[in-house]
Amino acid sequence: MRRGARQMTRLRAAAAGLALALAATFSIAMRPVARADDRQLVDPAPRPKAIDYGRLTQEATALLQTYIRLDTTNPPGDELEAARMLKQKFLADGIPATVWEPAPGRGVVAARLHGSGRHQKAIVLLSHMDVVPANPKEWQVPPFAAQIKDGDIWGRGALDDKGPGVIELMAMLAIKRAGILLDRDVVFIATGDEEEGGKLGAGWMVDHHADVFADAGALLNEGGGIDTRPNGRRYFDISLSEKTPLWLRLTATGDAGHAAVPPAATAVTRLIRALGQIAAYQPPMRIVAPVRDYFRAIGELDGGPPQFANLAVALRDPDFAKKFVAVPRQNALVRDTFTPTVLTGSPKTNIIPASASAEIDGRLLPGEDPQAIVAGLRKVIGDPGIKVDVTLNFPAESSPRKSAMMTALGQLADSEHCALIPSMIAGFTDSHYFRQKGIDCYGFVPIEVPAAALRGVHGINERIPVKELGAGIRRMVALLEIIGRRPPRAARGKR
Ligand SMILES: [Zn+2]
Repeated sequence: MRRGARQMTRLRAAAAGLALALAATFSIAMRPVARADDRQLVDPAPRPKAIDYGRLTQEATALLQTYIRLDTTNPPGDELEAARMLKQKFLADGIPATVWEPAPGRGVVAARLHGSGRHQKAIVLLSHMDVVPANPKEWQVPPFAAQIKDGDIWGRGALDDKGPGVIELMAMLAIKRAGILLDRDVVFIATGDEEEGGKLGAGWMVDHHADVFADAGALLNEGGGIDTRPNGRRYFDISLSEKTPLWLRLTATGDAGHAAVPPAATAVTRLIRALGQIAAYQPPMRIVAPVRDYFRAIGELDGGPPQFANLAVALRDPDFAKKFVAVPRQNALVRDTFTPTVLTGSPKTNIIPASASAEIDGRLLPGEDPQAIVAGLRKVIGDPGIKVDVTLNFPAESSPRKSAMMTALGQLADSEHCALIPSMIAGFTDSHYFRQKGIDCYGFVPIEVPAAALRGVHGINERIPVKELGAGIRRMVALLEIIGRRPPRAARGKR
């Protein structure tokens, strides 16, 4: 009995244990069914980990140094090795990435950080890998050594555009590592050939692999940043629009001969006359909306001059207009410009060449008709013997002032007590290729760089402060979190 009772007890205990185990099993199995009612099929993701920006900045510094040391001077560009290096950096963190070779030695790289898969349009972070030439004799440090001096990373590309590319890349790695789940994908694209017009970079990508960014709604690129007015007020400068190039080649012809017995007119003298006409020509002023808005906002920030409140009206006053256009950057924002740059004539002092040519860097305001402009220039030149060929032109498009990206940028600016000022840049970037595909493109690199360092862009002693590299990553992560924030729990399922 005792024995039997003991056995019974054991059996009961075993049965009870089994029942408990079964109950546990069932309750686990039942849980999703019970939760289906409140649409909680998936357990919530763990809370994101904190981001150590100090370590991230060190890593970004080392990456930028490696990147600058890969000489991508364009021409010839040779971006392939840099593209492979960036791809490896993404792959090491489990972010899928691909490299293309549009022409031998040239490169384009893209990577995609996946979000939660909801149907929100992806964000493209664009940069370019190629750099303009640097003459070591003019620099304080070797331009491709990536030395750290006085808290700055020195080197060609530090600001244009390798530093910004590193900020974009590191922000994506930081989000991935922290386990932050955005409501949309983030696509990184680094092109080559930007400094020579982008035909073998962004242009090639748009023509051959538009599928890579087919789901994109907005794009961030170079062209703007964080700036400070003389009175100390900071603002986010976001470029919505760009002037478009109308590059021209003027060719004059005439009899070749010995310069000891010159005729009254030669190819060279005719070309000089034509260039003189162009140099004297002042195209009419026209105020486009982003320029009007920019000066109005700057006037508000500075507390004047009152003319900035309505620039179009103010420029009707000849005295004000004269002072205004005396500043080259202001002049470039209110009219088309035509600047002779390359000249070709005889290879020898005593030979009169049969032809002479000049290249003109023309820059048009958005909305101009290039054909009408060329016809007008022919009239200005007034010599039907001068041949005018267009060597580069594309349509100028602007991106909207009101959009999800602009709202997110506004929130980021607010968090730093900065104004948000939309602008137009006088130059052009790769953004036009993507604007033509219907993507809202904004020029904004989230860094604040002293004017002295900014002069290094296409100049000498280009450099980026290490602390801005870190601050840039932090702002980029914050911006992506703002724009990619998943809706609050209560709102889910109703969308
Ligand atoms: Zn650039």
